[in-house]
Amino acid sequence: MDSSLNAARRARELAQTADERLDVLVVGLGATGAGAALDAASRGLSVAAVDAHDLAFGTSRWSSKLIHGGLRYLAKGQVGVAYESAVERGVLLRHTAPHLVRAHPYVLPLTSGVSRAQAALVMTGYRLGDGLRAAARTPRRLLPGPTRLTASRTRTLAPFLGEDGLRGGLLSWDGRLLDDARLVVAVARTAAAHGARVLTRCRALELTATGARVRDELTGAEFTIRARAVINATGVWAGGLDPRVRLRPSRGTHLVLRAGALPGLLAGLHVPMPGESNRFALVLPQADGRVHVGLTDEPVDGPVPDVPEVPEEDVTALLDVLNAILETPLPREAVAGAYAGLRPLLDADGDAAGSPGTGTRTADLSRRHAVLADGPLVTVVGGKLTTYRRMAEDAVDQAVSAGNLQAGPSRTARLPLVGAGPQRADVPPRLAERYGSEARAVHELVKAHPEEVGLGVTEGELLWSVRHEGALDEGDLLDRRTRIGLVPEDRAAALPTARALLH
Ligand SMILES: Cc1cc2nc3c(=O)[nH]c(=O)nc-3n(C[C@H](O)[C@H](O)[C@H](O)COP(=O)(O)OP(=O)(O)OC[C@H]3O[C@@H](n4cnc5c(N)ncnc54)[C@H](O)[C@@H]3O)c2cc1C
Repeated sequence: MDSSLNAARRARELAQTADERLDVLVVGLGATGAGAALDAASRGLSVAAVDAHDLAFGTSRWSSKLIHGGLRYLAKGQVGVAYESAVERGVLLRHTAPHLVRAHPYVLPLTSGVSRAQAALVMTGYRLGDGLRAAARTPRRLLPGPTRLTASRTRTLAPFLGEDGLRGGLLSWDGRLLDDARLVVAVARTAAAHGARVLTRCRALELTATGARVRDELTGAEFTIRARAVINATGVWAGGLDPRVRLRPSRGTHLVLRAGALPGLLAGLHVPMPGESNRFALVLPQADGRVHVGLTDEPVDGPVPDVPEVPEEDVTALLDVLNAILETPLPREAVAGAYAGLRPLLDADGDAAGSPGTGTRTADLSRRHAVLADGPLVTVVGGKLTTYRRMAEDAVDQAVSAGNLQAGPSRTARLPLVGAGPQRADVPPRLAERYGSEARAVHELVKAHPEEVGLGVTEGELLWSVRHEGALDEGDLLDRRTRIGLVPEDRAAALPTARALLH
């Protein structure tokens, strides 16, 4: 079946879905929900997946884009969680998304703020992480081992570092996503290629044992989707549909610096957070030239907003951490944009999580995911982007058994996502990097519509998103299919073109 998502397919499949009884209804199209739709559809089940907004509207687009091997969990003694992360990283790098996930180098500059004992401890951790890589059978040619760098080599990778007191650096490698929202789009399109109906702008109002009451957010029409099992994958909003789930969201903010703000940066940086021995800020160069700097961790109370706000104190705090290692500190104006996401952390107090289907203790739940089943109503929450596939598999296993569905085991560990096929050499490298095996087809559209919209993106690419990637409005185009919108000025400049292309 065709993987293309667009307004015409949405309208057609929405009409069909209201009439039928499906095997599985998935609610939420972040990484987890899209993954569940793919997992279920590729087992031969009939599936619809709805999102109140767009693909990757929630937390999945606000991540640091690390596909990590679980080192931080190892440091906390959570060996199982760390191993699961390392295995899933290998699956993405080797089999399912080698076009979207690559190995990336990270340097911890050894400044006066990092003691020799701390550096030795970090290096031991890196070596254990390399052991996890080996245990997960990810070859070293894909993820090289850690090494120590001289001060001059460290400055080759990050020339703007202050020279004073810099005694070298620690180099390590981990997985990194080109773009988190693009991963979700690729997973959702692969699900559609296996027959899943991927329906954005459809909000679940209420979940029942026999399906859900849903509202088409484009028309206001309400209808029922009937299904033998329902998977609630609404992340930080999950408690709104399943009262058993109590979350304690935590805000993670990133700054966005324009290309050129940190000239010559060739690696990600780990920067020690002042006063903390085992927490590091991240300086993350992006494929589009911008640099993201994260990451705060602040508990958030009250209702969960659609798009979290970034308070000015988060900006100041991150800028201070970054400036501590720069030869020439950056002024506030260097911060061109900022974004925040809410981590869907499960409340570990009391019985908030009910009895997790994965058999995990509640105290571990903020680290691992939980699958909560109440008859054919399954909620999957927690976890991380790196392990979305495993979360989806566990949720669908639970749905299959609770809904008494006829299906074999999960196939997704070896199922390449859209774009993961062989790449052609005769397309511009930027397109090859973003679109993988689809780059040639995108290039044809780009040749016909070469006008640049911003950040190197052309009108042809926006048209591709409208015709094949399910973009329905300018927000979909600028904030999720491309990330132009992360800098408000760039978004305003591109908006008229995006609007014109949609009409
Ligand atoms: C700041 C930050 C940085 C992170 N960095 C990393 C990282 O580098 N690596 C990593 O592996 N993990 C990272 N994570 C964790 C990871 O991003 C999340 O665990 C993951 O994206 C959650 O995905 P999800 O699909 O479960 O939820 P979401 O992406 O939030 O998806 C939920 C979806 O449900 C939809 N929805 C909500 N209510 C309804 C309704 N009633 N009806 C229909 N749809 C609805 C929403 O619109 C949304 O699209 C980070 C998290 C944060 C906050």
